[in-house]
Amino acid sequence: MAMIGFIGLGNMGGPMMRNLLKAGHKVRTFDLSETAKKAAAEAGATVVDKAADTAEGADVVVSMLPAGEHVKSVYLGEAGVMARAPKGCLFIDSSTIDVASAREVAAAALANGQLMVDAPVSGGVGGAEAGTLTFMVGGSDNSFAKALPILEAMGKNIVHAGGAGNGQAAKICNNMLLGISMIGTCEAFALAEKLGLDAQKLFDISSKSSGQNWSMTSYCPVPGPVPTSPANRDYQPGFAAAMMLKDLKLAVEAASKAGASVPLGSQASQLYALFAGSGHAGTDFSGIINMLRGAK
Ligand code: NAD
Repeated sequence: MAMIGFIGLGNMGGPMMRNLLKAGHKVRTFDLSETAKKAAAEAGATVVDKAADTAEGADVVVSMLPAGEHVKSVYLGEAGVMARAPKGCLFIDSSTIDVASAREVAAAALANGQLMVDAPVSGGVGGAEAGTLTFMVGGSDNSFAKALPILEAMGKNIVHAGGAGNGQAAKICNNMLLGISMIGTCEAFALAEKLGLDAQKLFDISSKSSGQNWSMTSYCPVPGPVPTSPANRDYQPGFAAAMMLKDLKLAVEAASKAGASVPLGSQASQLYALFAGSGHAGTDFSGIINMLRGAK
């Protein structure tokens, strides 16, 4: 069993850390929130005073933080995790952050005699609690092999996507496609309504023809056809519009830096900015159908 440092005990990090404890690992942990620290201590983790203290004698440090700036501030610098962690320590950053920051921190770890993978997740809070997350992992073969048994305690599908930063690249490419496909699906259902075509009929036809896609068949944005979709519970998330907006912004930023053309990704980002900015940041991302209908 490993000695693990864990930083960031929010909606995702809290349950992920508890799954590491359940698997028998020893965990030293830190968060800025007193409530999160109290819950972690009750779950059996050792709570420390600073992020860098989690790295003391650690085999592995896992982080689950909001954005690239938090990840850089926690790992880098004289008072950071990297300076405190032993040589050979493995860092697993599961936050969703920009590709450039992920690569910068991984390169610094390598230069300091340590290993790092970026391992963003999909599966949401439900997947974090159940230990069924999908991890998209970027890093060397050696780093991936070392990370695998730790990730297996928190997830079910663990995919090696290539070198450093490629986990983040996979995550934002997938979520850009999801944002675009959700808007397209919403437009089709909104148009069907105006044309007097019943939503269930459109679903029955399109889900078995060339318009078929995940946003329709697993997460349908109108109530009825897929009983588990957020549309059936007044668009309670699920996956909040603010989260989709964050991932689309990361995709557009990465495309701009890499010289890739993403006109639909840009348009999706602007539409989600409008939706989230009009009081729906906490609404499920499929609720954008109401804005596209012009109803709400
Ligand atoms: P959250 O806001 O609930 O948790 C973030 C935690 O980090 C908070 O508890 C905060 O106090 C802590 N934190 C911030 N700065 C810190 C620092 N310097 N030192 C220690 N702790 C610090 O966010 P979340 O929903 O848990 O998401 C975490 C990451 O996972 C994000 O990058 C998000 O995009 C990604 N993600 C979230 C979901 C989801 O459904 N919530 C799904 C997939 C990916």
